[in-house]
Amino acid sequence: MRKFELIAPCHFGLEAVLKKEIIDLGYDVLQVEDGRITFFGDEEAVSRANVFLRSAERILIKVGSFHAETFEELFQGTKGLAWEEYIPRDGKFWVAKAASVKSKLFSPSDIQSIMKKAMVERLKESYHAGWFEENGASFPVRVFLMKDEVTVGLDTTGESLHKRGYRKLTAKAPIAENLAASLIMLTPWRGDRILVDPFCGSGTFPIEAALMAANMAPGMNRSFTAENWPEVVARRNWYDAVDEAGDMVDLDVVTDIQGYDIDDKMVSIARENARLAGVEKLIHFQRRPLSQLSHPKKYGFLITNPPYGERLEEKAALPALYKEIGERFAGLDSWSMYLITAYENAERDIGRKADKNRKIYNGMMKTYFYQYLGPRPPKRQKQED
Ligand code: SAH
Repeated sequence: MRKFELIAPCHFGLEAVLKKEIIDLGYDVLQVEDGRITFFGDEEAVSRANVFLRSAERILIKVGSFHAETFEELFQGTKGLAWEEYIPRDGKFWVAKAASVKSKLFSPSDIQSIMKKAMVERLKESYHAGWFEENGASFPVRVFLMKDEVTVGLDTTGESLHKRGYRKLTAKAPIAENLAASLIMLTPWRGDRILVDPFCGSGTFPIEAALMAANMAPGMNRSFTAENWPEVVARRNWYDAVDEAGDMVDLDVVTDIQGYDIDDKMVSIARENARLAGVEKLIHFQRRPLSQLSHPKKYGFLITNPPYGERLEEKAALPALYKEIGERFAGLDSWSMYLITAYENAERDIGRKADKNRKIYNGMMKTYFYQYLGPRPPKRQKQED
């Protein structure tokens, strides 16, 4: 079986979560950088990583890396890579994305067109061809330049992995599914514990939590670009990964996962998304304003993404809203609270400093993940005691 170096980009600040997921899936991590992890894997790893990883953004096969400070060096470096080992004679290939940080070459469109030319030259020599029809499978290339070091990858995923396929309808400011999953994985919440999202919007947190509780792989119900690369990843790997995922699903788990929102429309959207994800039985959605948040049981978790005031008139309402969050949380006995927000005065208005805080980039937006840790529930007495 072919061995690859695989690169998985993720949200900045959540590398540790993805690293753990990759190790748990059975692969050796080679390098952890800002916003991406490199690991070793075979063909099977390509399909399993795409199907199983909850926090990754996509999975790239690393084609190679080289140093380039000029366009000539970029051209020669790209031409020096073994493209023919991946791209067949009829493949459609292009540089879908170029990103550059602290490097002499920085214009994405120039990087893209020069690399495409270099790939064409390479493949002309390999296939003894004068031109390519490019009417076969797609081979999108992604390249990052960091301090003039060029890393080149082939994108096996296609549409970003955060698109699980269940969120047909969204809220105003939905949180990315892989970000929501990563944040839940940062908490000690497990499927047998209570989870409430009082600002559930389109339902992302409750749905991601339910997928975890039911052991459902996030990529079970979608397709990936590399499914059409049988010379690189043999077809059976995709069937095997989905079979493996199917065998693990347990929809009979007992859960206590709730999503509330003040907006009726959001509640119906969240329900529909949960149905599409196949976990509607595991979540209870309800229209309920924050002011009516309460729960009779102890040791639950609030995990949520409250409004942070994208619009001016909303900003004015934030101090009172966050004060109310603090009050409702104080009324919950022995609960923990985790909230991600870009609102700078969250802790002040909540009225309590978070026990832990983590800076996370949501795209270009700097946000904070405030963590208020409650006590652990007492261990259940063992039978033999
Ligand atoms: N994480 C969600 C988006 C949350 S946006 C997702 O992925 O879709 C914030 C949500 O809070 C909105 O849906 C809004 O209707 C709701 N909201 C605003 N004020 C509220 C209040 N006082 N009580 C309950 N929900 C409220």
